[in-house]
Amino acid sequence: MTAQLIDGNALAQQVRGEVAGRVAALKARGVQPHLTVILVGEDPASQVYTRSKVADSEQTGLGATLERYPADMTQADLLDRIAALNADPAVHGILVQLPLPPHMDSHAVIEAIAPHKDVDGFHVASAGALMVGQPGFRPCTPYGCMKMLESIGIKDLKGKHAVVIGRSNIVGKPMAMMLLAANATVTVCHSGTPDLGALTRQADIVVAAVGKRNVLTADMVKPGAVVIDVGMNRDDAGKLCGDVDFAGVKEVAGWITPVPGGVGPMTRAMLLVNTIEAAERTSR
Ligand code: NAP
Repeated sequence: MTAQLIDGNALAQQVRGEVAGRVAALKARGVQPHLTVILVGEDPASQVYTRSKVADSEQTGLGATLERYPADMTQADLLDRIAALNADPAVHGILVQLPLPPHMDSHAVIEAIAPHKDVDGFHVASAGALMVGQPGFRPCTPYGCMKMLESIGIKDLKGKHAVVIGRSNIVGKPMAMMLLAANATVTVCHSGTPDLGALTRQADIVVAAVGKRNVLTADMVKPGAVVIDVGMNRDDAGKLCGDVDFAGVKEVAGWITPVPGGVGPMTRAMLLVNTIEAAERTSR
């Protein structure tokens, strides 16, 4: 069997189009939705990510500002700035790019963002809302993975077994919660899980979010399963690759996401969805 590709680029383009329509509708009511992105320090990858977030926003008509601060900014000053943005009705979404410089407590900084502006979905209130099935903001990566499942007609996962490999607060755990909310039976695996293959071979859906190449190989996949690859790694030639042995697994799986061109663009698109959602909620 050769798996069908879930094209993250194409789906992200569709999502951006939907966001652009919602932005236009809000603007017609006199509301300019706005995202503020905060970057502290000079981390090269963070500079690229934050620029993309602003460019993506502007492309859909969302207003976006990138605020850059020096690496020696004090945490107190950053918290003051977040408090001002929380109080600013013209700002609907606030995103603080991680990692922060080592002298800052990332948790305290994220908790300072008003939950109704937490478009990254990292605030404890957002995690709690997801846990109890209340409206909040969902972290963009697992939210994008759910959209990818939806795009291939998988919405209600009743009777399906999903295995999530990885349990980080920003990917693995919220992914598991979203799959559970969609009625899947969910198994969450991590570095201490013995015989990972014995579990993944039972899965109708496998989400790999580890950060190591070839965590999932063809012999670990049930024929026809859906495989979502969140990982971002470099192969021996320095090219971007995921956690999944793509060449092998695509011969067994029914559906598979590529890297690049899979979860990455969807993560970016879902930030726009959360931002327009934030603006719509406050202007209802
Ligand atoms: P993380 O915080 O490092 O978590 C990795 C998880 O993988 C941990 O739960 C760890 O287990 C588990 N793990 C490590 N080795 C394992 C093994 N051999 N078998 C099973 N589980 C294992 O990483 P993250 O932030 O969730 O990110 C995961 C990957 O996704 C990274 O490559 C990251 O770059 C990528 N990512 C991509 C996007 C995107 O937009 N495409 C967004 C976010 C992240 P323990 O908990 O036991 O340590």
